Amino acid sequence: MTSAENSIFNPDTIQIHQCRINVLPLKFDEALGLAYAAFTIDCILEKAQPSVKLHVIYDIACTLTAHFKKKKDKKLELDMALPVFHAYGHKMACQVAYSTRWRCGYGLTDGEVMERLWSYLRRFSSITKEMTPAHREDLLTDALLHYSRRKRADIGSSLVLLMDRAVRVKEDSSKALEEICSDCAVSLKDIKDWREAEKCQVDVSKSSTKGQVPWEEKYVQKLLHYEQRKEQLALCDDDTRAGMLAGQCQELDQDLKTLEQRHGIQRWCNDNPAFITHLAVMKGKQQVALIQKLWSHAVEYTFFWTCPKSIQRDSLWPPD
Ligand SMILES: [Zn+2]
Repeated sequence: MTSAENSIFNPDTIQIHQCRINVLPLKFDEALGLAYAAFTIDCILEKAQPSVKLHVIYDIACTLTAHFKKKKDKKLELDMALPVFHAYGHKMACQVAYSTRWRCGYGLTDGEVMERLWSYLRRFSSITKEMTPAHREDLLTDALLHYSRRKRADIGSSLVLLMDRAVRVKEDSSKALEEICSDCAVSLKDIKDWREAEKCQVDVSKSSTKGQVPWEEKYVQKLLHYEQRKEQLALCDDDTRAGMLAGQCQELDQDLKTLEQRHGIQRWCNDNPAFITHLAVMKGKQQVALIQKLWSHAVEYTFFWTCPKSIQRDSLWPPD
């Protein structure tokens, strides 16, 4: 897990990655954006045993995954997730795809371990603020080494505690779930189906975007724009705006001529049957797109409407 305090463009930025027991501070001299996180993951992968299944929780795991996809990076195969509270700041599609509450293998891990570390480091802010960068780095390194040693020393008792808590939470949750299921006359399968349905809604709203637009529709669209700009130009009495409109008209006219030449047609008039047909198809598509957009907003609204309850429930769960 990684996180950076202060501006990433500050050469004195300290970047820290953390697993449950260890802390490694790293210092960067350049602003590299997402490359910080990629570099940190590379460092971990270098040291990790090949048999270890690595789960990475990062505040913007969605953006980092998109970055890996764009770069065709093999790190794309890693299991990435968003910290549980940070996830609420992301859109529905991100929450469903990356929240630790939605992904398998994360249990009740909240992924907010970095926030606890920043909270520990906060006490040093008044001491370090007058220091030189080098002294500040020394002091923070000492503090983090102490934090790391303390974590290692406590790991045995902490794991026992966590195990006890996990068993207790599992029993309590199973009991509560059974009661709810019998009160509401639903089965566990129904609940799983609802979850799958919610995932499908996100997939539908993602896939309902643009397909291939036929040239005739592009031509009609340009023709409409051209006519609209010509009307605006005829009514315009401002020289600057008229110049701008004339330029746009010329550009649109050129695009129309190119399409006409390519497809061997004469300029379509408003009563041309082809124009009427493709205009109707285009308007139909626009209406469908609008309805899909409205529907996807409604789904997202309903999803976020349930968020306050989830946040209340999460706050009762044990931390990492
Ligand atoms: Zn996101």
